[in-house]
Amino acid sequence: MNNYICQKTIEKAVSCSGTGAHSGKKVNLTLKPAPVNNGIKFVRTDLPNSPEVKGLFNKVVDTSMATVIGHDGVIVSTIEHLMASFAGFGIDNVIVELDNYELPILDGSAELYASILEEAGIKDLETPRCFFVVNEKIELCEGEKKVTVYPSDVYKLTCMIDFSHPMIGRQEIDVEITSENFRKEIASARTFGFFQDLEYLKMYGLARGVTLDSGIAFDNEGGILNESGLRFENECVRHKLLDCLGDFSLIGMPILGHIVTEKSGHDFNYQFIKKFFNQRKAWGTCEVKI
Ligand SMILES: [Zn+2]
Repeated sequence: MNNYICQKTIEKAVSCSGTGAHSGKKVNLTLKPAPVNNGIKFVRTDLPNSPEVKGLFNKVVDTSMATVIGHDGVIVSTIEHLMASFAGFGIDNVIVELDNYELPILDGSAELYASILEEAGIKDLETPRCFFVVNEKIELCEGEKKVTVYPSDVYKLTCMIDFSHPMIGRQEIDVEITSENFRKEIASARTFGFFQDLEYLKMYGLARGVTLDSGIAFDNEGGILNESGLRFENECVRHKLLDCLGDFSLIGMPILGHIVTEKSGHDFNYQFIKKFFNQRKAWGTCEVKI
């Protein structure tokens, strides 16, 4: 029996397929077990020599619509929901093979990722997991946007959003990141958008794969276009937490800290990660004894 928290991978390979939200392109995804210190590696099997891109903040090339990583001209787009699923289950090492450049949007949530990871099973590896330990508060503010991390013995995320749409308004959620909480509270929360924005995006050739089956669409009259309604009353802020969990996982190791975000998005989260690495005195690294 180990006396430390160990790194984890999956027991066996699992697959799923779908369509990229922005590209509208079909993609097949296979998640495979990986050895210690591999991290999350994306492999583009559709390209010659199957190039790899690591799921790390220093590979981020675009954060305008989704989180996109790239290396030597090879990109992997919209990684946040899958990255959040690995972080939610505490999985450190996986090879993600894909045969197009954008991950599937699926139903707009991480529900299918969570269920295939459960099907794969989670395996302990015989090496300690290394954590970032936050010793001093780090904060990034810009207008109404704010991300702060405080010292904490556990990894906690608090997210706040505020939209004028009457079905959203101001919402806040506070979750300690454990597999159980991720599965129950976060994984099934879908992405959301506004009908007028969708028309605009489609006009510019974006959101090609977006339908009412790939997320929540709010209309201009204060209602919702999806017939089945919301999965949670505060589904939007739960999804925001899912996105933040995925974005912050690009730091590359789990965090012992409490991250609080207000009106943040992929780009601001990425700016925060850069600030985190510049505040070298505010954090350290450690293994966790159990
Ligand atoms: Zn999202």
